[in-house]
Amino acid sequence: MILPDQPLTEAKLLVVDDNPANLALLEAILEEAGFTHVTCLSDSRQVLPAWREGGYDLVLLDIRMPHLDGYAVMAQLEAELEADDYLPVIVLTAQIDEATRERALAAGARDFITKPFDAREVIQRIRNHLEVRALHNRHLQEVQTLSADVHHKDDLLQQRERDLAYLATHHPVVGLPNRPHMTRRVHRLLEEGADAFGVLLMEVEGHRRLETLAGYEFADRVLCRIGARLREAVSPPTEIGYWGSGVFIVILPRCGHQQAYDMAREILQAVLMPLEVGGYAVTLSARSALVHAPEDGEDSDTLLRRAMLTLSLARPGLLPMHFDPAFERSLQERESLLADLREAALRGELQLVYQPKVSLLSGKIVGAEALMRWHHPRLGIVSPLRFIPLAEESGLITALGLWAVERTLAAIQRWYQQVRRILPVAVNLSPRQIDLLQGEGLSLSAQIRDAIERSGLPPNCLELELTESSLMQQNEAALQELQQLRQLGVSLALDDFGTGYSSMARLQELPVSTLKIDRSLLKGVTQDARSRAILGSVISLGWALSLDVVAEGIETAAEAEILRELGCPLAQGYHFFRPLPEAEVAAVVR
Ligand code: C2E
Ligand code: CA
Ligand code: CA
Repeated sequence: MILPDQPLTEAKLLVVDDNPANLALLEAILEEAGFTHVTCLSDSRQVLPAWREGGYDLVLLDIRMPHLDGYAVMAQLEAELEADDYLPVIVLTAQIDEATRERALAAGARDFITKPFDAREVIQRIRNHLEVRALHNRHLQEVQTLSADVHHKDDLLQQRERDLAYLATHHPVVGLPNRPHMTRRVHRLLEEGADAFGVLLMEVEGHRRLETLAGYEFADRVLCRIGARLREAVSPPTEIGYWGSGVFIVILPRCGHQQAYDMAREILQAVLMPLEVGGYAVTLSARSALVHAPEDGEDSDTLLRRAMLTLSLARPGLLPMHFDPAFERSLQERESLLADLREAALRGELQLVYQPKVSLLSGKIVGAEALMRWHHPRLGIVSPLRFIPLAEESGLITALGLWAVERTLAAIQRWYQQVRRILPVAVNLSPRQIDLLQGEGLSLSAQIRDAIERSGLPPNCLELELTESSLMQQNEAALQELQQLRQLGVSLALDDFGTGYSSMARLQELPVSTLKIDRSLLKGVTQDARSRAILGSVISLGWALSLDVVAEGIETAAEAEILRELGCPLAQGYHFFRPLPEAEVAAVVR
């Protein structure tokens, strides 16, 4: 194909004439003019095959030929043309009458060369034509590259669309169908009224921790490996997906209750084998929940919500936890209890009772512990064991905790008015109070210092009790808060001692002044010497660390007697006093 920047003599020419003399003459003229790619055909039936081999810039075509005349040849070539192309044909003819001309033009000819040939005219017409053809070829070429470009862009676009479609239905990292997709699948199954089916949720334990300890990349690799194991462990029609946040989902179609449970168990066993990722051994554990449709939910929303609820209650292990309607009831109860608790303080439903603390030597009351009570208008008295955890989770504990301290200080004031004695009182402190206040940039010690200052009482009339397990877990900042409370003059007690795991080293570091021996250490002391020995050594430990020792939960005279023998100075319990309303305390102190 000739292009504008090439010499025209490099064009490819095809000359067709049944008369060999004409052919020879034209060939000579063209050769003379310097054309190097000239093909001559005397049989017009060979034109089409030659044309198909391609690349001719110009055809010089005789009109009158046997077998196929020039018009027929042009018709053949016309049929081969690309959309943007034209026939580069110059007709060779002796007749120059109007009719012949028109007919040739209509058939697609661009020009005429009349016989007998005049060499100058022949070359001039050919050159004219080739100049146009060269431009046309360039144009064709450009169109081609353009369309190739467009094709390429089209491909990219289609690829992009495929990628987007994939991402819309798959998790980008784990490569499994994602939550929207799996939700639609569950929805579909329910809508079709398919046979009973199960849905298993499996949450890989410690996924978060792995992310923070080993990095996202490592955690992602672990997830991918678990995904791969799931793929191996199941086969259609079972479907698997990734729910997000370390949770995988498996749809177990067409199976009854027991069958779903068995399948779930098998899958968990296969998936939770130890893994090796990047040369590290990873031990996997997971919590898992199983729901069964349609009885656990007739729409996907309910079914999957119940699966999530069950998952939140499940313990790590190889057995899935099955949804139970009681979960929902207790959740609802919890929620409504929490809503009530928010109002409780305002409605005056909260109260403090005080359990006196007595000296085992003199039998005198030396202090008290404040315990919170909630008189629920409908449920009656709600145990702090039930509502304190709710308050801790919801953050209400900071308000309740401060209220307990202020209320206690006010009670100490009133008792002082009545009996002229300052009765020290211990208030229970939740570790969450310190954390939550810290999170808000506030300080518990400052809060308590202000409360004591407002009361005008000496700081040592207040003791704060923290459980052994929570004290052992305190961070540096929280320990500082406790140090500051000690410096104020407030005493600190280690509550429920004997139920946690104190390290002796840690025990010496902590700013505590009192050890409260848990009731569980009293078990058996009246019967066997071994229990007594253990209790005795705990009391000696308190002595050794110069701590006040208080035994909690004394219910019988026998227990009190043993404690006295073992040298325990102080005690609390139903044997001495039940927790009393504020008004009754002054009377018993007297
Ligand atoms: P705790 O601090 O260990 O309180 C001792 C619990 O033992 C109290 O239960 C008390 O009523 C009970 N008790 C007293 N004498 C005896 C006895 O002789 N035998 C038996 N079996 N029990 C006895 P209560 O009042 O139900 O409080 C339970 C827990 O709730 C407390 O355990 C404490 O951890 C928490 N709590 C109570 N009030 C508050 C509070 O104001 N703030 C915080 N953060 N926690 C509180
Ligand atoms: Ca306590
Ligand atoms: Ca206790």
